[in-house]
Amino acid sequence: LPNSVGFIGLGLMGKPMVVNLAKKLPPGARIHVHDVVTAVVDELCASYPDRIIRCTSAREVTEKSDVILTMLPEGSHVKSVYLDPTTGILPGLLSSPSESQTGGKLVIDSSTIDTATSQHVSSLLASSSPSTTFYDAPVSGGVLGAVNGTIAFFLGASRHDANLPRLLPLLDLMGGKTIPCGGPTLGLAAKLSNNYLSGIITIATSEAMDMGMRAGIDADVLASVFAAGTAQNAICDTFNPVPRVCPAAPSSHGYVGGFRVQLMRKDMGLAVDMARRVGSRNVLGAGGLGVYAAASEAADCRDLDSRVVFRYIGGNEE
Ligand code: NAD
Repeated sequence: LPNSVGFIGLGLMGKPMVVNLAKKLPPGARIHVHDVVTAVVDELCASYPDRIIRCTSAREVTEKSDVILTMLPEGSHVKSVYLDPTTGILPGLLSSPSESQTGGKLVIDSSTIDTATSQHVSSLLASSSPSTTFYDAPVSGGVLGAVNGTIAFFLGASRHDANLPRLLPLLDLMGGKTIPCGGPTLGLAAKLSNNYLSGIITIATSEAMDMGMRAGIDADVLASVFAAGTAQNAICDTFNPVPRVCPAAPSSHGYVGGFRVQLMRKDMGLAVDMARRVGSRNVLGAGGLGVYAAASEAADCRDLDSRVVFRYIGGNEE
């Protein structure tokens, strides 16, 4: 495990991932962190004063760390954090005093972004700092998974990647599983395929629940019918969009928390773009994207968990 880990982007996902690192890294290891929101940095440094060290830029984090992770909202943030000529990761790699004993630095982007931006950043890093290796490693499992350390990493690397012995033990401190997806950008391609499927299942489950309930079937009975039959799926079983079917799900708490509907809109848009680019016929994509775009704008849905689609289609929440 590295003695010095860097982490940039301490939001809903990044912060609990850093907390897991702080709890589980061996004694003596340090975590260098940066976020534009200083309150979250203050809070983490106060909770783990011997472990977590504040940095004023991504560049400083990079200079002080052997392995650097980023967890940022969108491609535009990733570009600026990596490529800013004065404060970015790239100038930090170029001004780093010396390579660690174990080889070049590893840089891991866990943000869900488009593959083109990831490829662009990766090739600039490779040409300017050949000893550095960049990986896309988006995650799935939500905020609860990040808190519990059970998220899955979809790693843009082959099963035979020479750096896996350095990467896997570190990722295991934050997640339950890492799946090497074949090569660069394929972690992102896997993540976008996954979120396309779960986004469409969310809409279909909301519509099917509404249909059956309006026909007179009790919501719990309907959910157990789907669970027993060919419609069985994780949204129905764990994140049912109908309030009170799953007591722990965001839908049972006013759709607060969970995966924001705007993030699902972003991911559906990225998935539809990817389908077009790779020549995959995508009959449900436009409709799905339309639903999440409209729900993201609706006053009673925006900022809430994406399963608020049930409310958006006029489902009965009583
Ligand atoms: P978030 O908005 O809560 O956190 C992002 C953090 O990045 C914020 O703290 C923000 O201040 C920081 N940031 C933005 N620009 C910065 C900059 N220039 N320098 C330093 N810090 C900067 O987002 P999140 O929910 O943590 O999601 C992060 C990524 O993970 C997104 O791509 C999202 O799609 C993906 N994701 C989210 C979930 C989820 O359930 N929230 C699940 C899986 C994947």
